[in-house]
Amino acid sequence: MAAPTVEKVQEIREVTRIERIGAHSHIRGLGLDDALEARNVSQGMVGQLEARRAAGIILEMIKEGKIAGRAVLIAGHPGTGKTAIAMGMAQTLGTDTPFTSIAGSEIFSLEMSKTEALTQAFRKSIGVRIKEETEIIEGEVVEVQIDRPATGTGAKVGKLTLKTTEMETIYDLGQKMIESLTQEKVQAGDIITIDKATGKITKLGRSFTRARDYDATGAQTRFVQCPEGELQKRKEVVHTVTMHEIDVINSRTQGFLALFSGDTGEIKSEVREQINGKVAEWREEGKAEIVPGVLFIDEVHMLDIECFSFLNRALESDMAPILIMATNRGITRIRGTHYQSPHGIPIDLLDRLLIISTTPYDEKEIKQILKIRCEEEDVEMSGDALTVLTRIGMETSLRYAIQLITTANLVARKRKATEVDVDDIKRVYSLFLDESRSTQFLKEYQQEFMFNEMTSESMETS
Ligand code: ATP
Repeated sequence: MAAPTVEKVQEIREVTRIERIGAHSHIRGLGLDDALEARNVSQGMVGQLEARRAAGIILEMIKEGKIAGRAVLIAGHPGTGKTAIAMGMAQTLGTDTPFTSIAGSEIFSLEMSKTEALTQAFRKSIGVRIKEETEIIEGEVVEVQIDRPATGTGAKVGKLTLKTTEMETIYDLGQKMIESLTQEKVQAGDIITIDKATGKITKLGRSFTRARDYDATGAQTRFVQCPEGELQKRKEVVHTVTMHEIDVINSRTQGFLALFSGDTGEIKSEVREQINGKVAEWREEGKAEIVPGVLFIDEVHMLDIECFSFLNRALESDMAPILIMATNRGITRIRGTHYQSPHGIPIDLLDRLLIISTTPYDEKEIKQILKIRCEEEDVEMSGDALTVLTRIGMETSLRYAIQLITTANLVARKRKATEVDVDDIKRVYSLFLDESRSTQFLKEYQQEFMFNEMTSESMETS
């Protein structure tokens, strides 16, 4: 649990943050003004004003950082932007607040139990802000001595004599310090600082006491006055890691490389208990604070009764993140039981939720979303084509219409056009079926498919 390990984790995170054009990559925030009112079109978000405003208020709660264990449900028809709103919240929170997103079905795996998967998701959403004090020494360089030993690896060794107010101190130079010294071209007479934690050396200026910087006329030339200040300062360095990262690093069977593969397996409860104890100690000593993040569970109706009971309990903890769930289900069976319940969520859990509902879009809003998606996917589309695509979006679904953007662009490129036209849209509309035409097709040709079990009543597509 030493500080250098924690630093490594930060580096790993930087490397893995790769952005691609995904379903929600056009969403850059919730598009709210300072008074938390939703702007009609802003930060890639269109319409859905009430829901976005509600999400903004929840964000304020999260930012205050004082409230743990709140749970929110975003409920509404398919394709009404529930996931988009959750993504908007994540974008607004910034990188210092952990945000974990999973689909309800992801927790069913053969590698770990459902509750372990949920525990990991919870702990990925709890940040620990660790404060470290490093010492900065400031002084005047008396002598720098760097040698390359005749034998060995070729690594340099060296010594630095530094004069502070109190005394002269000799430092054995590590490799980092030597690099830093060479880079800064440090020589005797320079005023420097050494960051004891990182070994970084910074040149502040030259000392008055050395005679070398006088020119022929005897005037002082090159010196830079060194800033006033104490000779030893304390600097605070802050890292944010998640509880899950600390768990993985300290679980002896896996080691921190498991953070790359995600292949962490189950983590022993003793390890977690120890870590909880350690973090509690750090909190008491003022070395660390907890940053409750956000856990987003999409398609929450896929969880079963055991998971819901787990959630109920996990939310009681004072370290619990804000839980945001989304579902497009109405009154349906709770998995693992024979009981029905709104959204397939048990009443006792529903009772503690703040519920945000999303509503279907009108034609203008669909057009605007499609336009934003065209820009995001770098597709030029004629006004007429956009109007036709909007109609398709109204009659089928927004998602289906979004899918046609790239496909129509490919068709347009085949005919060497730079802009998607009405004909390209028509072409892909006939090539790719939407859900209702596909169902119609199956109804008409059911005899020719294998294992056909469809009766005259409507199909359930879940
Ligand atoms: P489901 O219930 O099927 O999971 P959903 O409500 O989560 O659907 P999304 O996936 O958020 O719907 O929306 C479908 C697509 O439309 C996504 O690409 C999303 O980014 C985009 N979208 C939805 N609503 C908006 C909006 N208000 N502004 C901008 N883009 C949106």
